[in-house]
Amino acid sequence: MVHDRNLSTHSDDPQEEKLGNTTIRSIEAKSILNKASGFIKAYDFTLNPYKGCQYGCTYCYAAAFSPNSKMRENWGNWAMVKKNAATLLEKELQKWANNHPERPPSIYMSTVTDPYQPIETKKKLTRSLLEIMIKYQPTLVIQTRTPMIVRDLDLLRKFKRIRINMSIPTGSERVRRDFEGRSPSIKARLRAIGFLKHNIPCNEEYDSRFSVTITPLLPTFPEDRNQFIHQLQTVDRVVIQPFHQFSERSLVAGTRQQALDIIDKYQWWYNEEAMHYHSFKEKLKSLLSDVEVFEGASGFGYD
Ligand code: SF4
Repeated sequence: MVHDRNLSTHSDDPQEEKLGNTTIRSIEAKSILNKASGFIKAYDFTLNPYKGCQYGCTYCYAAAFSPNSKMRENWGNWAMVKKNAATLLEKELQKWANNHPERPPSIYMSTVTDPYQPIETKKKLTRSLLEIMIKYQPTLVIQTRTPMIVRDLDLLRKFKRIRINMSIPTGSERVRRDFEGRSPSIKARLRAIGFLKHNIPCNEEYDSRFSVTITPLLPTFPEDRNQFIHQLQTVDRVVIQPFHQFSERSLVAGTRQQALDIIDKYQWWYNEEAMHYHSFKEKLKSLLSDVEVFEGASGFGYD
C-alpha cells in the first residue's frame, strides 16, 4: 500500500499529481453508472470510480481500453480520478428511483479499474460512493484484489444485498509477483475476504455473499495448489476461468516483448494449459465440498 507521504505535486497542471511513478489526474466524468454488458449483462449498471489502474496487472483486459497505445504500454503508471463521481451518482440513482420505484438497481463495481487501488487511500472516492449507495440499497457487487476494502467495513455492513468478489488468480506467490507485482499478497487477500465474511451480517435481512474469483487462472505450482484450495473454504463461491494466452485481450498491458517473456517463463504451464486448468478445476470441486464452484461468466452473477 502506498502512503500519502509519497504524494507530491510536481506538475504545472493543478489537475495532475505524482504518486511514486504514477501520474494521477482528476477529470470530470459525463456519467458514472454505465449500462452493463458482456459477461455481467445481467446487472443494470457498472460503476468505475477511476479510469486506469495503479496495479498494472500484465494480463489486465482493461488495458485494451486505454485512450491510446502509449497509455496502454504504460498501463499501471497512470490513473484518472472521476472527481464528480459522487454528485453524478446521487443524481443518477435518484433518477432511477423516480423511474423504477418498484426496485433498486443492480450495480457491479468495478469492471475496468480496481475501486480500492492505492490512490483510494487519499481520495476516498469509492468510500464516498458507498455512502451514497446505502441510501438507495442497490444490489451491489464489489470486485477488488486488495485488503484496503476492510477500511469500509462500517459501510459494507449496511447493504442488504451485497457480494464481495476478491480476485486471486494464482495460488503461487512467485507467480503473483511476475504477473501482478504491485498487487497485495495472496495471504493478505485471503485474510481480508475471511475477515469480511466474519464481520458482515448475513441473515434474513442482510443477504451478504463472498467469492474468490480465479479469473483467469494463472500458473500455480503443483506444491502450492492444494494448500491454496483449502484456504478458499472461507468463502461461499469460487469462480474459475481459463486464461486464453493467445486471445487479443490477454497480456495486453505493457509491451509485446514483456508479454512474450512472461509466457516464455511459464512454458511448463502454457504448453499444457488445458490439462492444468481441468485438473485445477477438478481439485476445486473435490476439495471444496461446501463452496459453490462456478466456471466463467455464470459465476459473476449475484445469485
Ligand atoms: S487490479 Fe484489475 S483493473 Fe487493475 S490492473 Fe489488475 S486486473 Fe486490471
